[in-house]
Amino acid sequence: MGLPFRIVLYAPDKLAAEAAARAAFGRIQQLNAILSDYDDDSELSRLSRTAGSGQAVMVSDELWFVLQRAQKLSERTGGAFDVTVGPVVSLWRKARREKKLPDAERLAQALEAVGHQKMRLDSRSRTVQLLVPRMRLDLGAIAKGYATDEALKVLRRRGISRALVAGGGDMTLGDPPPGKKGWRIEIAPLDTTNAPPARFVLLANAGLATSGDLFQHVEIGAKRYSHIVDPRTGIGLTDHSLVTVIAPDGITADSLATAVSVLGPDKGIKLVEAKKGASVHITRLPGNEIESSASRRFKQYYADPSK
Ligand code: ADP
Ligand code: MG
Repeated sequence: MGLPFRIVLYAPDKLAAEAAARAAFGRIQQLNAILSDYDDDSELSRLSRTAGSGQAVMVSDELWFVLQRAQKLSERTGGAFDVTVGPVVSLWRKARREKKLPDAERLAQALEAVGHQKMRLDSRSRTVQLLVPRMRLDLGAIAKGYATDEALKVLRRRGISRALVAGGGDMTLGDPPPGKKGWRIEIAPLDTTNAPPARFVLLANAGLATSGDLFQHVEIGAKRYSHIVDPRTGIGLTDHSLVTVIAPDGITADSLATAVSVLGPDKGIKLVEAKKGASVHITRLPGNEIESSASRRFKQYYADPSK
């Protein structure tokens, strides 16, 4: 999935800890072989290569689960979240390497192969059909949260419930460390000079995800383009934001954080508030002023700064 994962766990002894961590990392590797778009041999890449062929392809339980979750979120967000965004994302990856905006004509061409309506999921046959040639699926906005959920499940099955699994800014938290009420997690601040100080949340048995252009973006002219794109226009987000979502599990947090990044605060907060057990914190720098907003339930998670 293009980045290292990290596991923190409490076990009765070193041997049990090491065996459990190995098993959990094994599960992540297995999921990488299914869901990665960097790997040409992954199940996902093989599926993408059937685009436009008329084939309906039977997929694994894991790929099915992630794709149907993605599809539901696309429908709820009017396509702001869309895993068919691959052709556009690859043009922006190239733009990042070359520090040059994607060519308008190629962008328009890529957009013809983007759109969740062009991915047909049939739940009876568990098949996926990509209706248009050159479509390319990209699960970068949802697979890490799923992988951290699955890795935590492996640990739980081995009796280890006090654990945290993180893939970059996406994480799944189990029971708290011994004697603690939760895991203390820093909410990443904006990387600007007058950003407000970092805040911490205290969390257990939940997913947490942060999405934004802090770590991955390209500056061209005076503008900074995020690696998150609006699938409806094909353009990288430019309003410089950091979105943190807390949800019952990692896959929900990860996917919602990306969706809110595209939708912006008003629609984004509504989307998250409609989801049971989910809350969101948004920091943006649309111009020169930092704006912060959050859903009503977010503040209950703030850690006491004195502890
Ligand atoms: P990160 O990868 O930093 O955790 P996200 O979870 O927000 O951040 O995922 C961003 C990745 O998702 C991009 O690198 C790209 O591969 C893909 N992506 C970009 N825009 C969208 C979008 N609108 N909907 C779904 N996936 C997207
Ligand atoms: Mg995400």
